[in-house]
Amino acid sequence: MKSGIFEHVEYTGHEQVLACSDAASGLRAIIAVHDTRLGPAAGGCRLYPYPDSAAALTDVLRLSAAMTWKNALAGLPLGGGKSVILCDPARKTPALLAAFARQVDALGGRYWTAEDINIGPVDVEVLAQHCRFVFGRTHGGAASGDPSAFTAGGCLEGMRAALEHVFGSDSLRGRHVALQGVGNVGIELARLVAEGGGRLTVADINPANAQRARERYGAAIVSPEAIDAVPCDVFAPCAMGATLNAGSVARLSARIVCGVANNQLATPPDGAALRERGIVYAPDYVVNAGGMHNASADIFGRYDVADVWRRIRGIRATTLRILRQAEEEKRPTSEVAESMAREIVANVRREAAKPPAPAPAPAA
Ligand code: NAD
Repeated sequence: MKSGIFEHVEYTGHEQVLACSDAASGLRAIIAVHDTRLGPAAGGCRLYPYPDSAAALTDVLRLSAAMTWKNALAGLPLGGGKSVILCDPARKTPALLAAFARQVDALGGRYWTAEDINIGPVDVEVLAQHCRFVFGRTHGGAASGDPSAFTAGGCLEGMRAALEHVFGSDSLRGRHVALQGVGNVGIELARLVAEGGGRLTVADINPANAQRARERYGAAIVSPEAIDAVPCDVFAPCAMGATLNAGSVARLSARIVCGVANNQLATPPDGAALRERGIVYAPDYVVNAGGMHNASADIFGRYDVADVWRRIRGIRATTLRILRQAEEEKRPTSEVAESMAREIVANVRREAAKPPAPAPAPAA
């Protein structure tokens, strides 16, 4: 069996894949710069107890490519990148974070890093002490703070687009939304759905989080194993990735899938399977870009919350365009979204390749 990086099933022309280690702190990390044609690669750092480096490599290759498509469709002048640290969260130390930050800094701004699973706001500030290319900060002139409400707000825009596409009205009134995971973003999304007049069913492996959704927003609770089979209008994956797989797609009893979790499709054919079942899938990286709109302020050196919300509202039109084109072309929405993103990136290259316009002739 071929096992080289260029033959890896998730390798899609990544510009740079860097294995990093530091004996003193025990750091083992991989940084993947997928594409920088639109701008510097930007994407968070995930710290996770991967079973082995092959699993970490698969994750970082996939996540970094998704960041390219996310940033392109969000209209941001940023490329896609991501990093993973192979580590038990209980063994995370400032020395390990510092060693990682120095590796990112050495890339000179080709890749900007931020929060992700097990890398929180406090860790980000530790990274920023050793690296100039950290975004999503809680301190500094362009600090944007907690992205959860922005991510949830963007997801709501995507959900309204999907409701309009399927039911002819974007109203949440009376709509039933099943939320898988009510953590930082999920609970914000629950709030927005409840405020819009929607009905909620939730599941969380942390019973306290599910209980919080019940107390605050009257959500019904089911077990994590049962949430994907709940008969509802919208199934919203807001926990981990790969929850849309052969088993769950067959169980789904929703007309729409729209949630914030990254990499929801376990494999590309799962997007086609959703379409075959008549379920409209709002692609994850389209509807979860709200946090990126907010957090990327550090990269541009300026934070303007009104401008962030203006851009987040644009997620609705982008989602609707993808859903409509997919229907017209009888293709999975996941495929259409990726084609659109690829076109945006390719067009930039064409723009860049154009010869510069000739200088105007000097006045006689
Ligand atoms: P979080 O850790 O705060 O919340 C995740 C929740 O899911 C937790 O309450 C956890 O107990 C629960 N959970 C985990 N496994 C579950 C399972 N099998 N069934 C049901 N519940 C389960 O994370 P978050 O910041 O809310 O992010 C949620 C997802 O959205 C993640 O996949 C993240 O990568 C993605 N995302 C987050 C942001 C952001 O702004 N935080 C932006 C884009 C994408």
